[in-house]
Amino acid sequence: MTQIKNIGLFTSGGDAPGMNAAIRAVVRTAIYYNLQVTGIRRGYEGMINGELFGMDEKSVANIIQRGGTILKTARSEQFKTPEGRRLAYDQLKRHGVDALVAIGGDGTFTGARIFGNEHDMPIVGLPGTIDNDLLGTDFTIGYDTAINTVVDAVDKIRDTAESHDRVFIVEVMGRDSGLIALRTGIASGAEAIVIPETKTDINALCERLEHGRRDKSSKIVIVAEGDDAGGGFEIGRHIKEKFPHYDTRVSILGHIQRGGRPTCMDRVLASRMGVAAIESLRDGHRNEMIGIIHNEIAYTPFEYACKHNDEINPNLLRIVEILSI
Ligand code: ATP
Repeated sequence: MTQIKNIGLFTSGGDAPGMNAAIRAVVRTAIYYNLQVTGIRRGYEGMINGELFGMDEKSVANIIQRGGTILKTARSEQFKTPEGRRLAYDQLKRHGVDALVAIGGDGTFTGARIFGNEHDMPIVGLPGTIDNDLLGTDFTIGYDTAINTVVDAVDKIRDTAESHDRVFIVEVMGRDSGLIALRTGIASGAEAIVIPETKTDINALCERLEHGRRDKSSKIVIVAEGDDAGGGFEIGRHIKEKFPHYDTRVSILGHIQRGGRPTCMDRVLASRMGVAAIESLRDGHRNEMIGIIHNEIAYTPFEYACKHNDEINPNLLRIVEILSI
């Protein structure tokens, strides 16, 4: 095994708050161990186009508190082809990069797995996605900030819903996953949550809204965007059809969930994982995602980490039901 000297670092897929804290930790830890760091802008697309540059400890000053990613991110169709990946490999070699740290979600790790098998390039990954849908870590970088943003928004919506006696359908992110909806539903005291992991019965949902406590002047339904019965507008339309007398409003939270200053939890998570990324490469780890399980660093092969974590804790669902009476 040749000794690693120069680490290429990139963010890829959807951005997530805390990615900058992870970048800072990777760069500073590499320097601590006398390694060089090459930043790669715009993920795999930038790798193919040669958007590579040297980073030092000052490149990551004053970023731990900032949302987004200073390295920018992108999606790359070209990287899905062997020719595109060959171009990426050639660029890395040209810049002397001999190992990679990838920060992203399941798509990013699928690409990293294929690339690592095709070319001689050790890679480890850090889970940076607001969805918390990867196996091999209790929490992904960005999830805690995103759910706190949602709860803050729903608290505000509740104020106006109360004042007007309205039913609010709030759509949150989650194309395949109800993990954001479930936690934020509990934390914001929602009357109901609607998630893709469970079959949505519109009649049962309406029944629940109608037969809950009558003196409640506002009702909030949190909907994951990828629910089988449709997103916020669709669910809102169904409820309006059943209960024309309800003053129903739909609010799609959208991209505010991706932005903002990372919470303390995300900053610490990203810092721990960033340090572990460099130390694990030095220890010979390859093709693995760094996670934290039960407060301990854990290593999971990309292949397994990419399998969606679609397990919903039934106890959390029960809690929504009990507490919304
Ligand atoms: P998020 O969960 O936030 O969406 P992600 O990492 O899953 O993040 P994707 O857009 O799915 O985001 O993937 C990021 C990039 O990874 C893609 O644009 C593509 O370049 C690369 N990628 C994804 N799937 C593959 C694949 N099968 N082969 C090669 N590269 C891939």
